[in-house]
Amino acid sequence: MSEYKLLINGDLVSTESSFPVINPASGEVFARGPECSPEQLNQAVETAQAAFPAWSKDLAARKKALVAMAGAIQANSESIAQVLTLEQGKPLQQAKTEIMGSAIQIQLAAGLELPVEVIQDNDKGLIEVRRKPYGVVATITPWNFPVSIAMGKVASALIAGNTVVLKPSPYTPLSTLLVGQAIQSALPPGVLNIITGSDPLGSHLTNHPYIRKIDFTGSVGTGKKVAAVAATDLKRVTLELGGNDAAIVLDDVDVDAMAKKLFWGAFTNSGQVCIATKRVYAHESVHQKLVQSLAAMADKVVVGDGMLPETRLGPVNNKAQFDRVSELVEDARKGGATIVTGGQPIGDKGYCYANTIISDVDDSARIVAEEQFGPVLPVLSFSDVDDAIRRANDTHFGLGGSVWSSNVDRATEVASQLECGTAWVNQHLALTPMAPFGGSKWSGMGYINGRWGLEGSTELQVINVKRG
Ligand code: NDP
Repeated sequence: MSEYKLLINGDLVSTESSFPVINPASGEVFARGPECSPEQLNQAVETAQAAFPAWSKDLAARKKALVAMAGAIQANSESIAQVLTLEQGKPLQQAKTEIMGSAIQIQLAAGLELPVEVIQDNDKGLIEVRRKPYGVVATITPWNFPVSIAMGKVASALIAGNTVVLKPSPYTPLSTLLVGQAIQSALPPGVLNIITGSDPLGSHLTNHPYIRKIDFTGSVGTGKKVAAVAATDLKRVTLELGGNDAAIVLDDVDVDAMAKKLFWGAFTNSGQVCIATKRVYAHESVHQKLVQSLAAMADKVVVGDGMLPETRLGPVNNKAQFDRVSELVEDARKGGATIVTGGQPIGDKGYCYANTIISDVDDSARIVAEEQFGPVLPVLSFSDVDDAIRRANDTHFGLGGSVWSSNVDRATEVASQLECGTAWVNQHLALTPMAPFGGSKWSGMGYINGRWGLEGSTELQVINVKRG
């Protein structure tokens, strides 16, 4: 087995112990991740603290380093993608897209500016508002898009002048460590440190007194714990948390034209996307046809080992998540729902689960009320649009939502009533680095992407000069 190493102070570092990493397509251990010790965690944070003064002073050097970092990731994209598929499960082509997309995110961040706003400049004085980095940022990431989520956050933090300690999920640590290996010489030592390990490494990191900001993506439950820890030391936080996105399908849609798009809005990455469509409210006049169209897609799309060329959707990433998806489907079945297609695992090893469409299900069923985060979609019906909007909003989640119609103005009006960070019309899941992204209610605090992400990586400083 290859040895994977931490990145601390520009060095690739071995650890005394390690933990197993499982290929979700087989359910078997295929590699071991390095278990960061408490001393190594301290070194990583102290090193980031030491690197901060020089790094934060020179924007031109930061831009150059980020361009080099993006190039290094591109140059190593093939080997990183292979490992990403092995540990995460997604088809290889999609793993490559994730890695290349990460490099683009870094390039875009390298082009961002931190403009100084002049409030007053006259004979009485000069008042400027500047953006300053926080210091050391702890970046903590989940297992669904380990590289792209990490690199989006890291790029924003770094270009703003922060230094970073990055901790990926122990389910998917290796692709992030390979990124560390690739970019080792692109950045000055200590500017980006990558540590891996099992619980409670994340908690130890967030509690470290040198950490001034925590940038976290993961579940609502963990996000609340992170916010509570941050509060004790008034560390700043950005939280990108779970979602239970609703899609409202109006009576005037062309089902044949939109069903495929809706399917991919729900099943991309086997439903393991924070902003996947997780429940559908379809007008009663189109409900049956839509259910049949989605079921036909679900049956057609090949689920399997991401290394096989015919695979379009990979397994669920881990056993706990696989068990949760199975449990939610069984709960719906017992409650009288119709499992239109799917509803069972595929094969007798690994965590592949059949694409599942569920009908005749109530809003109160767990598969509707909770975030399933897997390849299962409940399709409910409505007769009154206001009622559909009320039901879509009747949740603590508020990440995304969508409205589907042949009449864009009508759909936009409905979309504007959704209580969520991003409301799409005739699409779902369409993220762009040019627009801010964040959740309302329990789906998050703060924003990423573009100048909004940069603002989240900085705090304001007013320079107030007396003249005359
Ligand atoms: P978790 O919340 O379980 O874990 C996320 C990360 O937090 C992991 O690295 C985990 O490491 C770490 N962690 C766990 N406990 C703590 C703690 N007390 N302090 C600090 N870090 C901790 O989420 P999942 O990995 O299961 O990811 C799935 C969730 O992420 C879904 O709810 C999904 O919707 C959400 N998500 C949100 C996105 C968004 O942009 N809004 C994007 C992608 C996913 P360890 O396992 O070692 O504890």
